[in-house]
Amino acid sequence: MRKVYLDHSATTPVRKEVLESMLPYFTEAWGNPSSIHQWGRTSRKAVEQAREEIAQYIGAEPREIFFTSGGTEADNLAIFGTVEAKKGMHIITSSVEHHGVLDACQYLEKQGYEVTYLPVNEYGQVNPEDVRKALRPDTVLVTIMYANNEVGTIQPIKEIASITREAGVWFHTDAVQAVGSIPVDVKDLGVDMLTLSAHKFYGPKGIGALYVRKGVRPKPITHGGGQERKIRPGTENVAGIMGMAKALELAIADLDQNMKRITGLRDRLIQGIRENIPEVVLNGHATARLPGNVNMSFLYIEGESLILSLDMVGVAVSSGSACTSGSLEPSHVLMNMGMDHQQAHGSLRMTLGVSTTAEDIDYVVSELTQIVEKLRAMSPLYNSKNL
Ligand SMILES: *Cc1c(COP(=O)(O)O)cnc(C)c1O
Repeated sequence: MRKVYLDHSATTPVRKEVLESMLPYFTEAWGNPSSIHQWGRTSRKAVEQAREEIAQYIGAEPREIFFTSGGTEADNLAIFGTVEAKKGMHIITSSVEHHGVLDACQYLEKQGYEVTYLPVNEYGQVNPEDVRKALRPDTVLVTIMYANNEVGTIQPIKEIASITREAGVWFHTDAVQAVGSIPVDVKDLGVDMLTLSAHKFYGPKGIGALYVRKGVRPKPITHGGGQERKIRPGTENVAGIMGMAKALELAIADLDQNMKRITGLRDRLIQGIRENIPEVVLNGHATARLPGNVNMSFLYIEGESLILSLDMVGVAVSSGSACTSGSLEPSHVLMNMGMDHQQAHGSLRMTLGVSTTAEDIDYVVSELTQIVEKLRAMSPLYNSKNL
């Protein structure tokens, strides 16, 4: 049976070159970067070299890169680190954030902070003017994701940044889905903090970074040694850092070519589904969309049953995010886009990657067509509607 992995927004495989770049840092150059002897100096040199490369790929300076254990920790550092550093009790975010941001904000609400969750339009986009209107004298942070992990919608980050810059409020963006998939330049965007995570661009899990613009300084949220200029203490994940730098190097080298190819396959999948399956809806924005994201609702059936049926024919997809699938709650992203329960429950996320081929897409369309037909034949909703 064919095997097709269409869940690249959940995680990606480590590329061979990436693994190879990491291995020496387990077996040969395993020193602690903080040690002053030659073992330590070798590791330190490697970490700083990687920091330089990663900074360069996103238009930052090396001293603006702080390594973390991944996207979630970088999001938490940006949010909790800011409320610790600044006086003020108000935060602005959107209603479609990843749980790494959403749950941190909800935790702060319990501590007495006020959080404004900006609405989005039917395509999942925040209106920058809503950010301006929500700003208050006591606002310390605006945090809005670059690209959505469920529907792939790309936010007007540059426009929002010019508003927060003018107001003198720090602006953080969770760019985990963007980095490695579309061009990301922190200076061009004008953001103050930006989250990235290696395992979303063919690097290892458990390593990420927070870009922090010079002049912006969140407080540490964990306490220990003085690593990462005291903002993120703890011995560096040297091999992980090397893997992240290599993965980003490869992603940037192939960015234009991959964007073009994957966008083409994405549109082939959307078109194939539309031509073969009646009563489907594309969720998210038609063009302001990640190259690899397809999120569609198959009316009158459950996304969960589609996932299980596709799994049986070798196809990996998801509904909502990896973190919330398994729960029966409809996705907060789709609900906040104004979707009714029925459409939200019938949604399926298929995310393409560098190894996806046209044959994969055609196989998925063909299998999906048969599965939807079968499930609808058993669906009381579908049958009562067609009586
Ligand atoms: C995957 C993801 C995260 C979490 O990153 P981890 O490295 O898995 O902690 C955060 N935000 C977005 C948008 C993501 O897609």
